[in-house]
Amino acid sequence: MIRPPVRSTTWLYARAAPALRPPGDFGKKRTGRPSNQSMRPEAGMSRSPRGRKACLALGLVGAVLLFPGQSVSSTPSEESPTPRLNLLLVTIDTLRADRLSCYDESHVRTPAIDALASRGTLFARAFAHVPLTLPSHASLLLGTTPLGHGVHDNLNFVVIEEFTTLAEYLRDQGYRTAAFVGAYPLDARFGLAQGFEVYDDQYQRRFNVKPSTLERRAEEVVARAVEYLERAASPWFVWVHCYDPHLPYDPPEPYRGRFAENPYDGEVAYVDATLARLFGRLEALGRDKDTVIVLTGDHGEALGDHGEESHGYFAYNECLWVPLIIVAPGGEPRRVAEPVGHIDVFPTVCDLLDLERPPFLRGRSLQAALRGRKAAPEPIYFESLDPYYSKGWAPIRGFISGNEKFIDSPIAELYDLGRDFGETANLASSDEIGPYRRRLETIVEKHSSPAGGSARRAPDREILEKLRSLGYLGGPGASGKESFSAADDVKTLLPLLTKVQQATALYGQGGKGEAVTALREIIHQRKDFSPAYVALGTLLAGDRKAPEAVAVMEEGRANLPSNYEIYSHAIKFLSQAGRADDLLRLFNPGAFREMDYDSGIWVLAGLAHFQKKQLDEAVEALEKALSIDARDPQAHFFLGEALEMKGLAGKDPGLLVKATEAYKRSLESDPEYPAPYFYLGRLYKMTGKPYEAIHLWKKAVELNPAFEQPLLALGQTYLELKDGRNALAYLNALKSRFYPAYPPARKREIDALINQAMALPIR
Ligand SMILES: [Zn+2]
Repeated sequence: MIRPPVRSTTWLYARAAPALRPPGDFGKKRTGRPSNQSMRPEAGMSRSPRGRKACLALGLVGAVLLFPGQSVSSTPSEESPTPRLNLLLVTIDTLRADRLSCYDESHVRTPAIDALASRGTLFARAFAHVPLTLPSHASLLLGTTPLGHGVHDNLNFVVIEEFTTLAEYLRDQGYRTAAFVGAYPLDARFGLAQGFEVYDDQYQRRFNVKPSTLERRAEEVVARAVEYLERAASPWFVWVHCYDPHLPYDPPEPYRGRFAENPYDGEVAYVDATLARLFGRLEALGRDKDTVIVLTGDHGEALGDHGEESHGYFAYNECLWVPLIIVAPGGEPRRVAEPVGHIDVFPTVCDLLDLERPPFLRGRSLQAALRGRKAAPEPIYFESLDPYYSKGWAPIRGFISGNEKFIDSPIAELYDLGRDFGETANLASSDEIGPYRRRLETIVEKHSSPAGGSARRAPDREILEKLRSLGYLGGPGASGKESFSAADDVKTLLPLLTKVQQATALYGQGGKGEAVTALREIIHQRKDFSPAYVALGTLLAGDRKAPEAVAVMEEGRANLPSNYEIYSHAIKFLSQAGRADDLLRLFNPGAFREMDYDSGIWVLAGLAHFQKKQLDEAVEALEKALSIDARDPQAHFFLGEALEMKGLAGKDPGLLVKATEAYKRSLESDPEYPAPYFYLGRLYKMTGKPYEAIHLWKKAVELNPAFEQPLLALGQTYLELKDGRNALAYLNALKSRFYPAYPPARKREIDALINQAMALPIR
């Protein structure tokens, strides 16, 4: 391996960073209480076939299954004579603290959240530990930083079963638990559903939309939460997650018009107005008097600060600083100036709900601060490792302690937040950062080690094995490098990413040649810069130049053999180029840890096997995809196709029944997916149900008027049913769209069918 010249590397870079320690005390008793979770991605009560799937299918009956609380009349706890407090946790995604008027009056008015703040404690300096959705929520709900829970990134990590989440903890204390989440990064399959009796992550799936971009509006999330709250028996824990301020910024009217210049602010105003309904309903139910409310953001949004557009790269305050408001019944309104972190929420909640704090927590309780006393000062650990894991850039880790903020990376940074909260003047000089790095090492140690000195114990071998297999113990990043230099620093590389994005935009605006030249130039400059390959390949593939895209990824793979983004795009473009043989040659199930979380790559492998008529292998790959993401509409559809082909070849009616089920499940996930309607209809026709088939084919044509096969099938079937008028209508529709492109023999066939239809008496 060729290593770049290493300048000023420290312990962090000298090791395979991030060298994570195994979390010791997992908190969860591994025997006794049965868990409703398994490692299987469809785990979680609402994801079980009897749970949510049934809800989908059964409609009305589903509502009963969804809200177990409703059947239980208000039963106060047997142990405590006083009624116990409920807990409402509201997380707003991608919310900069300065966009709430209770924090900063210069942007948006947020009256609902301001009113909440006026009743409780506003933490003026609260910080997320990671600028990303899943790891940040994991920190909130597990009371540990990523060093403890091991989730460093969206999509490629899961919260393992061994940990105890706040929901599990409260459920075990007799709480009813329910979560209503707004977007795919928090899908139940990533493990945060543990402990929630209801985990409502029902955003609409789309066969042609990347699942990672799926979201639903706050009003939908809040409506579902309100529906639950109206029936829930106390005590309950309800978590509401509003995703709206996340990209794309597209608030509904009237916010769209009102904030045309600042749609991000419009999203914040919209969420605030939507939350007004939630808080209002809580009050109307009288629940405001016995409910602790915690409102926070999972991370901020850069909006151009420090040259970053969104979030997930840097660890500056625009992305780490979040609002935190805690309202406890009977509390006085206050503002707390000391820095606090997300991991402080779990222990604080324990105190407020009068529950013992479990030993695995790494944060401190803020209850003293809520009562106007000083909270014990604690340094706040943070990290940003997505660039490390997905692109192979240098890791970022650091801490905030009082007014000091230290960001460790090859080009280290030090800020005085008291004078320079916007982090404009880096005070770090290379000869002074040694002590800061040593302090960071101590903090990392503390957040990684088992809680409570006496409770120190090594995790057992089984758990260690599991963590190792999940990549928790500091597996290599996408570059495979063990040491990093200034050239790998996110500060060095993010401007290059901006150039890539500019080239992509230029391509879209018609400057194709220039865009390709610009991307080529970047690759020439930095052969290890994966986003340039991915962008160039994606542009070419989108322009029906899949073979060229494949060539770009080949080049990328030669330079970056351990980069999963490059690898997965190589697979994708081989699929688009129709090169099933090459795809299967490249596809190696053990090659990357990320493959265990990526259903899409298994769908592509399944499809390639299908094209090669390797039906058993196709079924196996598609079932693997579904074991990762049980709601993938394409995986269900292609599985149906493979099973149908197997069933027809082997004359096995059992397989045809399974194929029918697979098509139905595909439509359950995405009712607007045209293909399964056609295939399902064909199976109905085959089994002597022409009218059911007609119904489904009409739906397919309605969704895609240029869908040739159902048009023909409808014409032929109406002909068989001696319905000349309908037969003619569909055959003519087919003719008008496709006739010119047909070879002569096909044209004659269609004409013959039309003549037959015309010969039928008009009914
Ligand atoms: Zn987020």
